[in-house]
Amino acid sequence: MAQVAIVGGGPIGLFLACEVALHGVPVVVLERLPELEEHPKAEGITGRAIDILDRRGLMLGIDGAPAQPTPEERERIALGERRPDSLQPKAFPGARHFATMFVLRPESPDLLVPQQVLERELARRAAELGVEVRRGHTLTGFTDDGDGVRLDVEGPDGPYPLRADWLVGCDGGRSTVRKLAGIPFPGTDGVTTGYRAFADIDDPGFHLPGWFRKDNGLLVYEEGPPRFITLEFAGRPADRDAPITREEFQESLRRLSGTEVTVTEVHKINRFTDNERQAAAYRQGRVLLAGDAAHVQSQWSGPGLRLGLGDAINLGWKLAAVARGRCPEDLLDTYTAERHPVGAQTLEVQRASIALMRPGPHVDALRRLLTRLLLDEHTNRHLTALVDDLHITYDMGDPSLTGPLVGSFCPDLRLKSADGPARLAELQRGGRPLLLDLGADPALRALAEPWTDRVDVVTAQCADAPADALLIRPDGFVAWSTPAGAASLTAALERWFGPPA
Ligand SMILES: Cc1cc2nc3c(=O)[nH]c(=O)nc-3n(C[C@H](O)[C@H](O)[C@H](O)COP(=O)(O)OP(=O)(O)OC[C@H]3O[C@@H](n4cnc5c(N)ncnc54)[C@H](O)[C@@H]3O)c2cc1C
Repeated sequence: MAQVAIVGGGPIGLFLACEVALHGVPVVVLERLPELEEHPKAEGITGRAIDILDRRGLMLGIDGAPAQPTPEERERIALGERRPDSLQPKAFPGARHFATMFVLRPESPDLLVPQQVLERELARRAAELGVEVRRGHTLTGFTDDGDGVRLDVEGPDGPYPLRADWLVGCDGGRSTVRKLAGIPFPGTDGVTTGYRAFADIDDPGFHLPGWFRKDNGLLVYEEGPPRFITLEFAGRPADRDAPITREEFQESLRRLSGTEVTVTEVHKINRFTDNERQAAAYRQGRVLLAGDAAHVQSQWSGPGLRLGLGDAINLGWKLAAVARGRCPEDLLDTYTAERHPVGAQTLEVQRASIALMRPGPHVDALRRLLTRLLLDEHTNRHLTALVDDLHITYDMGDPSLTGPLVGSFCPDLRLKSADGPARLAELQRGGRPLLLDLGADPALRALAEPWTDRVDVVTAQCADAPADALLIRPDGFVAWSTPAGAASLTAALERWFGPPA
């Protein structure tokens, strides 16, 4: 019997499966599609998601340092005046933009990796870790009887039952798991309809390439294979499942460009809107949700993968510890407590982003004002932290913990130990908790001894050590640090990783 069944073999289901498997817990992934999906989705990985992949050795290569726009260029980007491509956000590869406007945090560029590349890498890692991925298998129903979950699956050879201790729905925005569990999904409906297309047009004089803010929306035209994005504020699509016709896309291009352009061929196309919705709870009994199944959001600024990977790295080690019987079930409630507010904040940021993309002189004025405010480094960093999920802190459940970084994501410290130099991210690749002894304290190591079957203890030197010792959870968040004393360390070890063996 699989202890954990994950429905959905998209990026979040696969990453979560790897997280659970790292702890030796049998996991099966059910994926309806027979093959990895090749349709274009995310084009990059942003903010905290880059750190998350780095903590598991899954960095896929950053595309060079971004160019820096001047203040004048920033303002012109914000206003979307017709201009050569060199002044468009895309001309600063890897730099961040918000509402197609500000170029943020240029020292930490986006990872320009298509979602398919990430999914292939995760599928490879899952196979390496012994995850059983059943492609062409669809979940059609389930019953949670309190001791476990019975899943009804439709496979290539017909229907069959499957039993698991835990079920996680990573089955996307229209999640069957969420709907069957009856978990409410409140939020706001989309106000936009957009298309993202690789297509040929017959009018070479159609437009200069670039990102253009128009009277009725946004038009993006990139050369090279020709790629278009259109965004109009005339409500959400009437039927999101209707096949996308060439004529429908052509009409959108004509309205935004004000030309009679003809689309001769569409190679790949998506229709999108900006629903912002979030599941009321991420756990119900033995059923959990992660990724788009737990929240849907507009795709501007790339929140989908970032939020979903953040969910999965938070949930994976907790679920494994509970499935192995090392920790009580209520550890799983910290998953909703920690991740639900992060999702809610992201939806707020996304709604603001859509509002700032509306056409018209009033929004132009607001964009100009914000662009000037964001020339201030402090304000810029504050917004970047919000947009990129860098601001997150979790309640570590002990008010006496006042040490530096407690509740925050631990920076990638440069360490020197008996084994040589290493980055913190390299020490976290196995997904195990880490007690970092930066003050060579034998008493500390003795105290952690009963947990060494599940917690790595590393003595190291660090030139910019934030504390003498840090207890870092597998998701990179600091659960304890000095100057708090021995009693609170024991409590933190037990709270997060269970009583000693
Ligand atoms: C056009 C487009 C552009 C985007 N651009 C960006 C971007 O730039 N940056 C970004 O971060 N995000 C972007 N996103 C969003 C991003 O693609 C999603 O957030 C991400 O795919 C969510 O991953 P997931 O694993 O949660 O869900 P999904 O990728 O939706 O995967 C869910 C999986 O579950 C499977 N499934 C569903 N129901 C069942 C069932 N009953 N049984 C078995 N399997 C089932 C599906 O086949 C699917 O493979 C974009 C999305 C689109 C559509």
